[in-house]
Amino acid sequence: MYSNKILVLAMLFVLVFNIIAPVQVSYAASLDNVIGTLGASTVQGYDGGSNVFEKIFDLLFDKILGPILNIFGGGKATTTTPNSPVKVTPLPPNDGTVSNGDSGVLRGKTIVVDPGHGGSNPGAVDNGTKEADNNLAVSLKLRDKLTRAGAKVVMTRETDRTVAPEGSSLGQELAKRVDIAENNNADMFVSVHSNSNPDPSIYGTMTFFPSGKSSKLALEVQDNIIRETGAVDKGTSPATFYVLRNTTMPSILVEMGFVSNPNEAIKLRDDSYRNKIAQGIFNGIVKYFNS
Ligand SMILES: [Zn+2]
Repeated sequence: MYSNKILVLAMLFVLVFNIIAPVQVSYAASLDNVIGTLGASTVQGYDGGSNVFEKIFDLLFDKILGPILNIFGGGKATTTTPNSPVKVTPLPPNDGTVSNGDSGVLRGKTIVVDPGHGGSNPGAVDNGTKEADNNLAVSLKLRDKLTRAGAKVVMTRETDRTVAPEGSSLGQELAKRVDIAENNNADMFVSVHSNSNPDPSIYGTMTFFPSGKSSKLALEVQDNIIRETGAVDKGTSPATFYVLRNTTMPSILVEMGFVSNPNEAIKLRDDSYRNKIAQGIFNGIVKYFNS
């Protein structure tokens, strides 16, 4: 019995230093995000900020209080444990436990992720890389990050296929992608592509936005992709691509890199590089909604 108690205390000690301590270390890094989230509740058109405290407390309980109560309550802990032997004092809500990854900062947002090409239309193919595959791989990672942050994500495709029935015209294929965004009343449309050029020495990342509309989303996404990947920054540009021209919500088309450049083609095939791109796009989207 006595040794049991020591064991429990030792486990609690380990727990505190494994969960509480890293949280404090990350405090400075994620404080910006918390403030941004709270501030965003007053921004016109943003309606996801009002639940922030609720989310933070949920998170606190799941990550810290839950495990502690579990140890002392023999695994039967609930949110209301009046006889809990531990007096648990809730930590202040701005203790930094909210991270981009699972903060719910995108709750209430519907985001359409559009992996360019697919099926009988592979897009640019060069240096052993198929554009449609790169686009899909990054888009699936982006989907997961957005979903973890609370967004409702609608994919135009989740496998190697065309979006419109096979045999449809390119116009029908692109119209179908726009329809998905419009029919879902999406708050954002993000199309993911890989670039190609006859000159193999050209490489770098660029992000396009609809001509005549705001460049804000494109700037945030481009900036954050470059931060994550260290790729050459080829900047943002207005464009009249069909999917940009015909979507009514904020939309961008990301050209992640050039499959025609041997070095960039290798990177675009690499899983960890793909994850960096997805993280950059994700960070840019969060910034866009929270600034
Ligand atoms: Zn493309």
